[in-house]
Amino acid sequence: PSRVTGATGHLGRHTVEQLLEKVPADQITAVVRTQQKAADFAERGVRIAVADYNVPETFDRLFSPGDKVLLISGNEFDKGRVGQHRVVLDAAKEAGVALFAYTSAPGGLTAALADDHRATEEAVLASGVPYVLLRNGWYNENYTEHLAPVLEHGTVVHAAGEGRLTSAARADYAAAAVAVLTGEGHENKTYELGGDEAWDFAEFAAEVARHSGKEISYAPVSVKAYTGILTGAGLPEPLAAVFAGVDASIEKGELAVLTGDLSRLTGRPATTISASIAAALKG
Ligand code: NDP
Repeated sequence: PSRVTGATGHLGRHTVEQLLEKVPADQITAVVRTQQKAADFAERGVRIAVADYNVPETFDRLFSPGDKVLLISGNEFDKGRVGQHRVVLDAAKEAGVALFAYTSAPGGLTAALADDHRATEEAVLASGVPYVLLRNGWYNENYTEHLAPVLEHGTVVHAAGEGRLTSAARADYAAAAVAVLTGEGHENKTYELGGDEAWDFAEFAAEVARHSGKEISYAPVSVKAYTGILTGAGLPEPLAAVFAGVDASIEKGELAVLTGDLSRLTGRPATTISASIAAALKG
């Protein structure tokens, strides 16, 4: 059986949907913190388990021997994600699960955002549990879900210079997770996942222009200026610093992951940034 945490999040939903295409619903458990959010899954026969990373006892006896667990990394940056992830890992170890997969970040990423992932990976390796590290690259959606200001101002503002990255759609990373959960021979492997082609923000601007029929250009700014723009738009300073740090990493090429692991695992090409832009503009 597959047990997926964060199942009511974006990546989790894609993962459960794709699992439903491959295995019977009663072989899937959606681990969620809000039961009502998973009502649609329950209706389709998916098992629901309610547990919160912040409440360790909710994970007591949640897993069984033979389970394949996918821990989708949390999004509560201020609550100590490493400790949260350890709660799930400890429960998995206690149960003697067959496989523990964790959605991490690219191995070359030095941005502050990666620290929690590195520390979680260390805990996973130290635990002795059969593991898979799914080092997910960036989502196309990080950019295509925020096109409104780009279309309004005709400008793509980033602090990534001419840096290139290989992003893919969340559905692609979900497909990789499903391949690992339903396939064989993935024990103790680390996959560096990213799209098939690297792009930069000038090309991104050109693609948005092509698909929208509007004039769009790329305005590269410094990390300091970008942080100021983000806080000016209402983002809390720590979060603005995180996003600006990611751009600095993109400029250094740390999010260009050209291993081919993603399309090898899924058996198909990754969704291009152009296709995701087109889909987002269609709404
Ligand atoms: P979402 O924010 O959509 O999903 C996060 C999930 O984590 C949600 O299901 C949420 O539950 C769950 N969660 C958060 N805190 C807890 C908790 N205390 N207990 C139980 N569940 C919890 O993110 P995505 O699905 O888009 O991405 C998955 C993860 O990937 C993110 O959480 C983040 O770590 C990372 N990420 C990766 C990016 C990339 O480009 N590679 C970009 C952004 C994030 P609920 O549904 O109840 O809110």
